[in-house]
Amino acid sequence: MSAEADVLIVGAGPTGLTLACDLVRRGITCRIIDRSPGPQEGSRGFGVKPRTLAVFDALDVAGTVLAAARADSHLRVYFGTDLIYTGRSRPTAPTADTPYPDPVSLPQWRTEAILRARLAELGEKVRFGASLTGLDQDADGVTATIAAGGEEETLRVAYLVGCDGGGSTVRKLLGIGFPGRTEEDLRALLADVEVHGPEPRDAVHLWLGTRRMMAVRPWPGAATSQVVVSIAPGQTVEPSVEELSRLVAEHSGRDDIRLGTPTWLSVWRYNLRLADRYRSGRAFLAGDAAHVHSPFGAYGMNTGVQDACNLGWKLALAVRGRAAPGLLDTYEAERRPAGRAALDASDRGLSSAVTPPRVLRPVLRHLVGPLLSRMRARGRDDHPTYHDGPLSVQAVRRTRVRAGDPAPDGVLTTPRGDRIRLYDLYRGPGLTALSFGRDHQVHVGDATPHGVTCDDPDATVRGAFGVRPGTTVLVRPDGYIGLIAPTSGPELPAYLTRVLGTTA
Ligand SMILES: Cc1cc2nc3c(=O)[nH]c(=O)nc-3n(C[C@H](O)[C@H](O)[C@H](O)COP(=O)(O)OP(=O)(O)OC[C@H]3O[C@@H](n4cnc5c(N)ncnc54)[C@H](O)[C@@H]3O)c2cc1C
Repeated sequence: MSAEADVLIVGAGPTGLTLACDLVRRGITCRIIDRSPGPQEGSRGFGVKPRTLAVFDALDVAGTVLAAARADSHLRVYFGTDLIYTGRSRPTAPTADTPYPDPVSLPQWRTEAILRARLAELGEKVRFGASLTGLDQDADGVTATIAAGGEEETLRVAYLVGCDGGGSTVRKLLGIGFPGRTEEDLRALLADVEVHGPEPRDAVHLWLGTRRMMAVRPWPGAATSQVVVSIAPGQTVEPSVEELSRLVAEHSGRDDIRLGTPTWLSVWRYNLRLADRYRSGRAFLAGDAAHVHSPFGAYGMNTGVQDACNLGWKLALAVRGRAAPGLLDTYEAERRPAGRAALDASDRGLSSAVTPPRVLRPVLRHLVGPLLSRMRARGRDDHPTYHDGPLSVQAVRRTRVRAGDPAPDGVLTTPRGDRIRLYDLYRGPGLTALSFGRDHQVHVGDATPHGVTCDDPDATVRGAFGVRPGTTVLVRPDGYIGLIAPTSGPELPAYLTRVLGTTA
């Protein structure tokens, strides 16, 4: 049976939508299905991190996301009824090599809507109300069974990617384990709702307490806020506005906070789990289907977007028959350690916030400021690097960036005087080779002798990479640095063989 599409994406959350946009822009045919009848409404993931914005840049949606999002933040922290900290963070100015220095806030439903609109522009749309119920695979492809509108149909594809969230059907059908823990005692009631009371209205209000926590986070341009209230161990809680109001009064110690009718209400339960494998034959897992953890540190959606970005170009090469035999295996080798790192970081963050160590409580007000600055710095530094990954080759010493880091942005000038932006070059479809010469010259190409020698007038680009003349940097189609090596050395052709199976 020949394939009806190159790739089937199961699940149209942020992970599936990012992957769909990335594959379609690379000319790959894909289907994307979601079992829910329409788009998800809950605000959920609000922190969009710098590296995610760089991925959105490649998909041509960074501008739309930034225009809708909020870049500054005003935070007020209470311990019980005491206001112990108040502070504003101002956006960092972008620089030539770092166009997206800060995380920004945007409700997840809005981020998803922007990605869906981009997918539609690219000519593809999500098929809602269609659920994956079975899959079979052989050496040539995958046959998926899809239930939609009371009927079952089969679809033959070359590859399938499960972006179907924590309860992933794909993961279960593949028999991939999801070890970790669920803590019934760590639960929270979540809602998107109008909140009247805490002032100023545009601030994030965070209440800390002994094994209790509450956050009220307003959304840019919306009347509603996201409310997250922890539920005490053993307490039975019905997701209702009455219960929410009761918990809000209990946690804040205030009786003047009024809530409207929630547009979304849900109970969250603490899960910390990592899939045993990210791949089985021609099927892959990405996003929450592969890793779930606490919302602390805002890793969930961002890690899923990065999974999609790592997998997209590799699948595109494989579909075209241009991938080296081991290329698809590097997805798990690079992304599973990143998933593990996100789990560890969010778990540490949650433990210290839910239960501030007893001895520290009297001095908490003095610690909150420095602690938040540290968290903000970490929030920026979201991108896991692939320094030890199978596709990172560092063959010269003492460079400012290393193989496995995201490549910096910058602007070069062509001999005709046109300005070219590095982020635009990295979009691919191929690898980008930057060969640094003398006299501020940079040869830009696709790792063949073709290309163009550009000018780097103030050596800003060379400074951002921190390399000497005579060095070539090879940037992968996901914007990560694959290789840093002497321009005339054997490493460059060897690297191409590692990725493409050929030096051509
Ligand atoms: C309160 C809260 C705050 C959060 N804050 C942040 C944050 O600030 N930053 C951040 O990065 N993350 C945050 N997260 C986590 C983030 O929401 C998730 O990590 C993210 O939604 C995962 O995206 P995904 O696309 O992998 O999966 P999901 O968003 O879960 O999407 C999976 C999709 O698959 C569909 N599906 C499931 N099974 C099937 C099937 N059999 N067939 C077809 N479709 C199927 C579902 O309908 C769903 O639409 C937060 C989460 C919560 C709850």
